[in-house]
Amino acid sequence: MSENLTYKKETVYKKTDAENISAAFDYAEGYKSFLNSAKTEREAVKTAIAMLKPYGFKEYSFGDEIKIGDRLYYNNRNKNLFVFVIGSDGASDGLRIVASHIDAPRLDIKQCPVYEDSGLLYFKTHYYGGIRKYQWVATPLALHGVVVTKELRCVDICIGEDDNDPIFYITDLLPHLGREQSKLPLSEGIKGEQLNVILGNIPSSEDDDDSVKAAILKLINEKYGITEEDFLSSELCVVPALKARDVGFDRSLIGSYGHDDRVCAYPSLTALTESLDSKHSMLCILADKEETGSDGASGMQSDLMLDIINEIANALKISPALLRAKSKCLSADVCAGFDPTFPEVFEKMNSAIVGCGAVFTKYTGSGGKYDTNDANAEFVAWLRAAMEKSGVVWQAAELGKVDAGGGGTVAKYISKHNIETIDLGVPLLAMHAPYELAAKVDVYETHRAIKAFYNFD
Ligand code: MN
Ligand code: MN
Repeated sequence: MSENLTYKKETVYKKTDAENISAAFDYAEGYKSFLNSAKTEREAVKTAIAMLKPYGFKEYSFGDEIKIGDRLYYNNRNKNLFVFVIGSDGASDGLRIVASHIDAPRLDIKQCPVYEDSGLLYFKTHYYGGIRKYQWVATPLALHGVVVTKELRCVDICIGEDDNDPIFYITDLLPHLGREQSKLPLSEGIKGEQLNVILGNIPSSEDDDDSVKAAILKLINEKYGITEEDFLSSELCVVPALKARDVGFDRSLIGSYGHDDRVCAYPSLTALTESLDSKHSMLCILADKEETGSDGASGMQSDLMLDIINEIANALKISPALLRAKSKCLSADVCAGFDPTFPEVFEKMNSAIVGCGAVFTKYTGSGGKYDTNDANAEFVAWLRAAMEKSGVVWQAAELGKVDAGGGGTVAKYISKHNIETIDLGVPLLAMHAPYELAAKVDVYETHRAIKAFYNFD
């Protein structure tokens, strides 16, 4: 009797069979490749398009025809992607929307970045997103991004990923001289203006200028054909020079930079390419700028999503307002996994437990439910049925203790357009650290959850 009356959270290992666990481990291999080739939003857009091409997806431009059966993507400034499939049902059941983000916390190079001090050459940085600054020192770093010259030549740069590449480095103080620094609060131990990246040390042999700066600008010019002035129109990011690796004796976890939010972006793509025979029309959004508030032309507060929905609505002869009203959305983003080492910030019963599957978060925000999309109970019930039909293992959770802090996602920027929206994602340990942790089974259940959402009637 109590079997049927009580609810109990259990692990994917207990709730599914060996075949499902083995599929989760196979799936993790593809995910790790995605992590390694998509460390910035620009690289994620490129990688995503390469994943879509074999399935016949074509680039869409405003004004192009849209019809039933089309598989299209709109590339927004190489930093944000809208992928859409028009199912046989057209607009009759709205759009199944899944929105994740492909930017991740990192250090951006400033526009006037180069300086030399005491024989060392440096880049100055401005951190991007919610980092804990002390985690970025004394660790191997890679440089990724683009420099665009006045002639509009776009130079791609990626140094530090190949085993033969050099890496970059930010120093910390030695403990022997760190007595005063060690007394500072964690948030002040390393300051923003101390996150300076070392670029080299060999002075130039030129008579007129024997600086390290002259020598390294020469190296850069020889390799990329750019000058110091070209950094004015660059987007260069410093990210950890670390590859995704299995973690644990049993290889159950994946350690990587940028799980948040590739761990949802990748499943939203794989679930889409496995749902191409769904009769529903689907829109998969890979957003930029989530980590800094979703502002700007590539963030989810831009009107671009509405513009695309309007174009689809016009093509399918339905009013955009009605198309939005009929649509449903998963805001696919990570949740904090319960960390037994820091239990004091969690309320365990409503926390995401690593290994217990995909996480639905009805509301995010912070103390008193401020700044949140709070999904409708009716929509949650519909999702329960969808997950049950596909046997997806999932759990309900919020970020942490009620007044411990909080965080937001893109959910509220979508639901404000009258689109039913809920957060779904993977529980992470050490979220926003340079190397984050996710369980393989949770990643795979998220893929299965999104697939169930794309297909459920
Ligand atoms: Mn996120
Ligand atoms: Mn984040």
